[in-house]
Amino acid sequence: MSTYGIDLGTTYSCIARLDSNGNPEVIRNNEDDSNTVASVVFFENENNVIVGQAAKENVETDGDRVVQFVKRSIGKRDTRTYEFDGKTYTPVEISALILGRLKNLVEAQGGTIEDVVITVPAYFGLEERAATRQAGELAGFRVLSLINEPTAAALSYCARQFQEDRTILVYDLGGGTFDVTVVKMSMTQRGDGRDVQKITVLATGGDDRLGGKDWDDRLYSHILRACCEENGITPEDVEAETRQDIRSKVEETKRKLSKKQSAKVRIDVNGSRTEITIKRSEFEQMTSDIVAKTMNFVESTLEKVPADAIDVVLLVGGSTYMPMIINAVENKFPGKVQQHDPDQSVAKGAAIYASMLVEEETGSATDNTASGDSKAPTRPEQLTSKFTVEDQTPRSFGPGVMDTSGAKPKYVLENFIKIGEKMPATFSKTYYPLEDNQELVRLRAFEDMSTEETVIPSVDEDGNPQATDPAHNVKLLGELIVKLPENTGRNTPIKVTFKVDASGVHVEAVNTKTNELFETFLRTESEIDVEKSAVHQLRISSD
Ligand code: ADP
Ligand code: MG
Repeated sequence: MSTYGIDLGTTYSCIARLDSNGNPEVIRNNEDDSNTVASVVFFENENNVIVGQAAKENVETDGDRVVQFVKRSIGKRDTRTYEFDGKTYTPVEISALILGRLKNLVEAQGGTIEDVVITVPAYFGLEERAATRQAGELAGFRVLSLINEPTAAALSYCARQFQEDRTILVYDLGGGTFDVTVVKMSMTQRGDGRDVQKITVLATGGDDRLGGKDWDDRLYSHILRACCEENGITPEDVEAETRQDIRSKVEETKRKLSKKQSAKVRIDVNGSRTEITIKRSEFEQMTSDIVAKTMNFVESTLEKVPADAIDVVLLVGGSTYMPMIINAVENKFPGKVQQHDPDQSVAKGAAIYASMLVEEETGSATDNTASGDSKAPTRPEQLTSKFTVEDQTPRSFGPGVMDTSGAKPKYVLENFIKIGEKMPATFSKTYYPLEDNQELVRLRAFEDMSTEETVIPSVDEDGNPQATDPAHNVKLLGELIVKLPENTGRNTPIKVTFKVDASGVHVEAVNTKTNELFETFLRTESEIDVEKSAVHQLRISSD
């Protein structure tokens, strides 16, 4: 059996497994001479779809046949699809193509791949998680589990440097996203009586539109300006080819500046060769505000967990190779900063977790030797006896109901289950029909990022809550339409129950007078043709 961990990233993806000694190793992408695969897909023609660096090189010249940043769309409502050569692709299908490329890396080296753990950002809701899992299945994997990216990074850190009871701040700066997460490792007793380290997420923060690309953009503008000065022209005079030339060299130049104090870049400016030298100090100056922005997100995450409670700060994500990042974080947390293969540690942690799950399932360590020979890997430690990853609700969940206590009834979302609760989680509450002889009940289930008891969602012109409400991070998960028996009085108790587990949200309503049960498994919005009207709601209190 061959078990792998996959970091399906917004800009770069990575696949890892445990070697025959039980140490995590990344499968090299020899074609691109890299440890990662660019999460970019180029639909060259009907018969040829390219994933990776070669696809990325077409962003400038053939942008309309290239798909990137697809992770931002996966599992999102009203998500866009892509059309090439008469075929339509969903974000799940595009993601499956990226996963397929990772699968090829393994197969090219003579390995086989079946079971995988795929990582997701800690802030992903249930639909994004379900869609990621679906992409894995579409790529032909058995998806053992998903794991939060910061939890995977913490796992790979702890496997290398085991210490009990640590609170770890994970600073993950990737290509297009910045995530701050505080995870806690705490000693606990498992069901079988064994002591294990439980990993739980305490706080999350960040910005899903902030990442290495912002540094690329600054460098691009700087080089463009320098080219103009050198050639005595204005930016309007610069030809499209020149812009493309600069664009294609920016990322490489940025990477050079992580290693060296200065970098040279040669650009063909409207046909004349121009050499620009950029000093690291210049680069740091022109991007210092973005570094500060990331530190502000760290500060606001620390409002939930005090800074002195942090034992270790882990730098994760390719952009933390930049010395300016290491320095800024070191300044804030002197002596606490750790960085180990930041572009690989998430995949490595996922590989460790995958192997833990298989060990639990089969009672033995996995055999990942490429030849499949019977030499069982001798692991330094049995990881399963040491760690357990607690499944926590990634969002808060609850129904939308009418609050009739005030002068004017208002639609509120009651958070039954709060973000960070242990899964599976269950909560019930009794509500009442809004009116006597009410025929229907429209019970809507929401998820949101709030820890408040109630949230007042934005409503559309009909007074119905909007399917997505960015201001409150509220998202409609689905709805259950309940038909009440005739002559149901307005004080008939209807007990509503929410259950959340890794597979999704289950909602049921029981008419406690007739004991009739209505239940549904909510994952995607049910398109039920019911006239939109507040009349169908339940209310919080009886008369
Ligand atoms: P993802 O965002 O998909 O999780 P990564 O964590 O691999 O991806 O981060 C990718 C980002 O890291 C890109 O913007 C890339 O340019 C940047 N990066 C990778 N290596 C370096 C380096 N040596 N110096 C500076 N930036 C780097
Ligand atoms: Mg990442």
